Amino acid sequence: MDTVVRIRVLHESSSPVLNEIFARLQEINDRFNRHSEDSDIARVNRSAGKSSVRVADETYQLLSRAVKYYHLTNGAFNPVLGALADLWNISGAGEKRAEIPSDSDIHKVLKHCSPDFLQFKEGSVFLTSPEAVLDLGAVVKGYATDQVVQILKHHGARAAILDLGGNVYVYGEKPGGGNWRIGIADPFTEEHREALIIGGSDISCVTSGDYERFFIFEGKKYHHIFDEKTGYPVRGELASVTIISGNSEEADVLSTACFVLGENACLDLLKNWDAKAIFITKNREVRANTAILEQIEKESLEKGFSLQRVE
Ligand code: AMP
Ligand code: MG
Repeated sequence: MDTVVRIRVLHESSSPVLNEIFARLQEINDRFNRHSEDSDIARVNRSAGKSSVRVADETYQLLSRAVKYYHLTNGAFNPVLGALADLWNISGAGEKRAEIPSDSDIHKVLKHCSPDFLQFKEGSVFLTSPEAVLDLGAVVKGYATDQVVQILKHHGARAAILDLGGNVYVYGEKPGGGNWRIGIADPFTEEHREALIIGGSDISCVTSGDYERFFIFEGKKYHHIFDEKTGYPVRGELASVTIISGNSEEADVLSTACFVLGENACLDLLKNWDAKAIFITKNREVRANTAILEQIEKESLEKGFSLQRVE
């Protein structure tokens, strides 16, 4: 998953649990990482326009759900945006670049970014356009987090904190009592200290933002979350969206989709999916609805941010 994973588990014998968790994460990476040569996703991408590929059942299922999410989010979450991501080639470094892709290249590539090119048949998947590229980067960490939670439940672990590259899950009862405390990154400081802290238990907290991977061209920031309607990195009022939900896969899909859609256009989605959101705008407003306001530790809000209630 190209990311750092940190896990702490409270259990009578934690090492077998941790071993099982890391073996499972390796398996998920080996199936879903499109940059890992033999993964299901890499094999489907390599056979695009040529032939269908037999994949693991979990790959088939996650891809099927990804197409469903595409329709539910009106295209804001798009699992077939890989060709666009490759064209932009956004690295993590925030370096300066001498150029950005041309509009004509963007439009050419966009024609191949539709889930309509994805065909499913009896355990096999076929990308019908030779230039279409699957990319599950916006959902797989959430999926993996839910899988780890299943393992924790299966072993009857008492408590755990999971951090899969910023997808955080707090599980069970915090030792010593009280709520777990989860920090939400400040998008504006280089080290992304916490802008605020929320409390809770058995929740996933997933953030999508414009500060995670980007480059600068002519003084403007170009980041890694794209809008299929324009072919450009999303431009809007938001610096980040954090989704809080018991289901990490849905939180991951929603964090990306809500970042693309913007606050107003995603409110119905949030209601339908029973998820809560915290929006941090580029002018340093932390916008949260009543449901999540209670979970925010008011005194934790960093200087310079204002807290606003949204409905
Ligand atoms: P996340 O950090 O969960 O928002 O996921 C961002 C990653 O998902 C990017 O690095 C791309 O690989 C991919 N991606 C970018 N834009 C989108 C989008 N609109 N829908 C789905 N995946 C995307
Ligand atoms: Mg996501």
